[in-house]
Amino acid sequence: MTDLPARTGVLVVGTGFAGLGTAIALRRSGRTDFVVLERAHDVGGTWRDNSYPGCACDVPSHLYSFSFAPNPSWSRAFSPQPEIEAYLQRTAREHGVLPHVRFGTELLSARWDGDGWEVETSRGSLRADVLVLGTGGLSEPSVPDVPGLADFRGTVFHSATWDHDHDLTGERVAVIGTGASAIQFVPHVQQRAAHLTLFQRTAPWVMPRRDRPISKAEQALFRALPAAQKVNRASIWTLRESWLIGFTKQPAVMKAGEAVAKRHLHRAVKDPVLREKLTPRYTLGCKRVLLSNDYYPALAQDNVDVVTEGIDHVEAGAVVTKDGVRHEVDTIVLGTGFQVTDPPVAHRVTGRDGRTLAETWRAQGMAAHHGVTVAGFPNLFFLVGPNTGLGHTSIVVMIEAQLRYLVSALDQVQARGIAAIEPRQDVQDAWNDRLQAELQGTVWNTGGCSSWYLDRNGRNTTLWPTFTSTYRKEVAVCDLAQYVLTERTAVPA
Ligand code: NAP
Repeated sequence: MTDLPARTGVLVVGTGFAGLGTAIALRRSGRTDFVVLERAHDVGGTWRDNSYPGCACDVPSHLYSFSFAPNPSWSRAFSPQPEIEAYLQRTAREHGVLPHVRFGTELLSARWDGDGWEVETSRGSLRADVLVLGTGGLSEPSVPDVPGLADFRGTVFHSATWDHDHDLTGERVAVIGTGASAIQFVPHVQQRAAHLTLFQRTAPWVMPRRDRPISKAEQALFRALPAAQKVNRASIWTLRESWLIGFTKQPAVMKAGEAVAKRHLHRAVKDPVLREKLTPRYTLGCKRVLLSNDYYPALAQDNVDVVTEGIDHVEAGAVVTKDGVRHEVDTIVLGTGFQVTDPPVAHRVTGRDGRTLAETWRAQGMAAHHGVTVAGFPNLFFLVGPNTGLGHTSIVVMIEAQLRYLVSALDQVQARGIAAIEPRQDVQDAWNDRLQAELQGTVWNTGGCSSWYLDRNGRNTTLWPTFTSTYRKEVAVCDLAQYVLTERTAVPA
């Protein structure tokens, strides 16, 4: 039995900030003919899945939340994961979108058949006029291709699927990866494990984390005076926007930041050998700038080894590095990130000419118009699509801009009786050429690191190169002149 309708006006995939935001935007625009697919059993997206110990957001919550659903009660500047997950659950409830969500229902394939999207899910099929992918960049864990990993006899889990039933107390634990996730859970592991071996391929830049509790008085002020919370949000947004200048135009700013990070390292780590290992060799900002006050102190403890020799293979009870050393461990925790530049969903969506998104993007990498629509894929909309990710501020700002664009497109299409729209290839190409040119001088492209911002060809297909305000202006209205329009064929009387 399936509770899926045979057809729907808009099919939304995912219930993270993007998918829920879409559902709410559709409701707010007066639409009720939509269904949301969620493969899990609750809403929350990456903030539901990433429940590892220490998980928190490093963008202040008053900005990392919907502008239309302010939360005066954030307890800290940088909210812990459970608070963000609860916020999303509450927001979904309060905006009445839960009845539209089909939980435990995974999108298996979507094919444009000339007339609409023919969709297969894990719980049956349906048709949709419009498909909105809110699947996000950080939803599919990346498991490293380390020989022998499948034969390891102990426990292995990824940070995004943390095994909360597994007690690390007294164990020998290997952690692979030193990104934004790992630096948050490593202190937890260090405190419990008998021994922690941290396999570091690239030393990250780690800055002090200026977190603080938000006092009851501040919370009361925000409750009594919503305008004060808006001003607070605007000031965080402005500060974060100003950071962009360092990432894109003024590398000298990055040098100043590097000095701060180096002092941070020196204060916590006295051993010169360890310090040397932990000192990054690329320009600050090339990879995501990490914030932590307890990562370096944890690594300075006696029960920790930081191993910088590459991993050769894994055996039944050990991780073996390229120098032949066997590091015997009971558990391996993967902090190895996500499949961002080759998203699995791209293999499941087939466009007008019978090619999947993944096939379309194979040669040049991910590309879309405004990061939202893709030539050859009529009535398909992306949230946080190609080149609309951020390295410096809240992704929710981008998502809200894209939601306005989506609703603007749907309103016009409906008003003009248009059956399908897809961006003109020349317009999409021109937009992407401009972005790639703008990205050339940025620290993400030139900072001397490899990161998930770049695809296997070294092309930056993930980040928006300039201010979020610029993006907001560019996508304020969907300009149908940039689109190929398919008129609705008149039904014979
Ligand atoms: P990530 O930034 O992609 O880091 C993955 C780590 O695993 C890197 O250190 C990488 O090394 C290492 N790695 C991957 N494959 C490896 C291999 N085969 N052998 C050895 N090391 C390997 O992933 P993440 O830490 O999960 O973070 C992903 C993104 O999620 C972040 O950039 C951020 O946008 C978001 N996030 C945000 C927060 C927050 O707000 N606080 C927290 C967590 C995540 P290399 O560096 O050498 O590639």
